[in-house]
Amino acid sequence: MSNAPAPRAAVFSVAPYVGGESKLPGIAQPLKLSSNEGAFGPPPGAIRAMADAAATMHRYPDGGSVALRQAIGDTFGLDPARIVCGNGSDEIITLLIQSYGGPGTELIMSAHGFSIYEIAGKLAGCTVKKAMETDLTTDVDAILGLVTPQTTQVFIANPNNPTGTMLKQADMRCLREHLRPDILLVIDAAYAEYVEHPDYDPGTALVEAGTNTVMTRTFSKIFGLGGARLGWGYAPEAIVDVLNRVRPPFPVNAFAAAGGIAALREPGWLEQGRAHNTQAKRRLSERLTQAGLRVYPSAANFILVDFTTSERAIAADEHLRGQGIIVRRVASYGLPHCLRITIGLDEECARVAAALAEFCHG
Ligand SMILES: *Cc1c(COP(=O)(O)O)cnc(C)c1O
Repeated sequence: MSNAPAPRAAVFSVAPYVGGESKLPGIAQPLKLSSNEGAFGPPPGAIRAMADAAATMHRYPDGGSVALRQAIGDTFGLDPARIVCGNGSDEIITLLIQSYGGPGTELIMSAHGFSIYEIAGKLAGCTVKKAMETDLTTDVDAILGLVTPQTTQVFIANPNNPTGTMLKQADMRCLREHLRPDILLVIDAAYAEYVEHPDYDPGTALVEAGTNTVMTRTFSKIFGLGGARLGWGYAPEAIVDVLNRVRPPFPVNAFAAAGGIAALREPGWLEQGRAHNTQAKRRLSERLTQAGLRVYPSAANFILVDFTTSERAIAADEHLRGQGIIVRRVASYGLPHCLRITIGLDEECARVAAALAEFCHG
């Protein structure tokens, strides 16, 4: 018997999370397009609010995030009483899985779904099942086909990371209608603010229509506050009560709360970020398609680019790195032949497009 402390066996069922890289040896300021961070940095008002907040940093934050929940409710037209804030939406997702999962339960996600569901699910002792996708898009029938009496949770990122594809409102509603009412459906709408598709709903309607659907959202993407760690969930009353029991006493630090409120109030921020993303994404996709690459249609602030083979994807990644550009390899998502590229500023997209055109033609 070893005399070192041993953790629960489930701990070793997962590998440590690897985020998008940010450094390249020998390059002072690489162009980081690997984590889907908003193209414009933090809103100026949020920078000021976080600096001002420093003066009262001896005070504990408001554990219930009252002012922040009010501001989120005002911005999105939601009831603040049904909002729960967390240290990133990852925390809300993890708390839901700890509360509704556990040994003997099954969690269903799609084949190329967001990795946090699998990591948090396994750590909680759930069996994680992955549903086949159609054209790299969540397949409602495939998910329903995996449901068993042990299923307690279904997690869907909409739009999904890393594929960028989305489910229309009617398809999501169909999924909810055919799932047993005691199964929790979590719609992770981290990229909701970027979506322009008329048939999209981030999950609000389903949350409000029942007792078994939760929507999660984040300040890490369009609001440019990934470093502050701030996310939230919108949930039926009974699930809000559960989350308020299991959450840490002070999940949102005072910098994040101040920055988040100011980000919501930044004039024109959402509209400008969304409009830029749509046109820059279209232009970059066109240029890469002209270079001979397949680009999957994306509703989010990144594109998934198909290089046909994993060798070619790795060679393209090396080529980009040689030019100081970091994108995301997605082999861990079962897509070794693809790279995921975040939509940056116009000049940043132009650099990526030129580098990949050179890769394809040179
Ligand atoms: C980026 C991302 C998040 C955001 O997580 P935070 O913890 O709020 O930074 C959540 N879900 C998906 C699918 C994402 O891509």
